[in-house]
Amino acid sequence: MAEETIFSKIIKHEIPSEIVYQDDEVTAFKDISPKAKVHILIVPNKVIPTVNEIEDEDAALIGKMVLTAKKLAKDLGFAENGYRLVINCGEDGGQEVPHLHLHLLGGQKLRIVGLGF
Ligand code: AMP
Repeated sequence: MAEETIFSKIIKHEIPSEIVYQDDEVTAFKDISPKAKVHILIVPNKVIPTVNEIEDEDAALIGKMVLTAKKLAKDLGFAENGYRLVINCGEDGGQEVPHLHLHLLGGQKLRIVGLGF
C-alpha cells in the first residue's frame, strides 16, 4: 500500500483544511494556494501516488472524482460558464504532492496559454 501523504492527513481531519465534500471514496477541499477564484482539489481517499499507478480496478473511483468535480461546479454555480479540470503527473508534469488529485478551477475566465497555471 502506498505511503500516507499530507492529503491523507486532510482526509482524516488530522490537519486543518476547508473540506467542501467528502464520502467513503473521495474528498474535495480548497487548494491552499488558489490559482483561480475557485480552486478545489478532488482526491481519492486511498493513496494512489500518480496517474501511473492507477489500476483497472480504480476506473470507477477515477470516474467518481470527475463526477464530484461536475457536481461541485454545478453547486457552486459556474457549471454553465465552464471550468477546467487538471491532473498533473510526475516531475515533468509539475506534480508536487504524490497523492493523485484532480484540480477544479473555475468561477472566472481562465487563461488558455500554458493551461493557465
Ligand atoms: P500539484 O502541483 O498538481 O501536485 O498540486 C498540488 C496542489 O496542492 C497545489 O496547488 C498546492 O497549492 C496544493 N496544496 C499543498 N498543500 C496543501 C494543503 N495543505 N491544503 C490544500 N492544498 C494544498
